[in-house]
Amino acid sequence: MKNFRFKHIIWDWNGTMLDDVFLCCDIMNNILHRRNRQPITLSHYRDIFTFPVREYYKNVGLPLDNGNFEKLSVEFIDEYESRKNYCNLYPGVKETLEYFSSLGISQSVLSAYSQHTLVEIIEHFGLSRYFQRINGLDNIYAAGKIDNGRKWIKELGLKKGEVLLIGDSVHDYEVAEEIGAASVLISAGHQAETKLIKVTQNVYPSMNSFLLELQNLKNY
Ligand SMILES: [Mg+2]
Repeated sequence: MKNFRFKHIIWDWNGTMLDDVFLCCDIMNNILHRRNRQPITLSHYRDIFTFPVREYYKNVGLPLDNGNFEKLSVEFIDEYESRKNYCNLYPGVKETLEYFSSLGISQSVLSAYSQHTLVEIIEHFGLSRYFQRINGLDNIYAAGKIDNGRKWIKELGLKKGEVLLIGDSVHDYEVAEEIGAASVLISAGHQAETKLIKVTQNVYPSMNSFLLELQNLKNY
């Protein structure tokens, strides 16, 4: 592959590789139902989901004071953990991982999901062998991943522009900018395309469309 300038790929997990968007919206609706509140639509969910997740809960209109945020986080993650195995990988994810791997390009995961469960679910899907490192958070509050990103890029020891980050959120774009990586966003995940194209032109509707572009070597 002559024109591919990247030496390492950093992947986001939720909404980029794992299709858990419907599940996350459904769990929120159960939380709202228990509080006698109106449900949100999937489309609205993709408009208001953001990082830090605390801000998303605020957007939903849930009170977060007096330990409510921590309680909501536990409530959310308990249901998520019991249902996550019903989620699938997005079409084209395995093929894209395999594609980079066949080119000898190393790959890793940088996620705001907690480390232990992240490692477990990646193993569940048989993808561990693709990753040099799996970087999650040490808690369930999904505040963001800039700090872990900074640490990881330092360890990788690669130059600016040698790393490509693949994600599904504005936060992924911000992390990439912060650590000097290029980025590609897939708009099939937790945030609507209308939000993503406000920060970057590198937005693809699906993993398969990105893979096709890679194979055609148009921009990479
Ligand atoms: Mg994501």
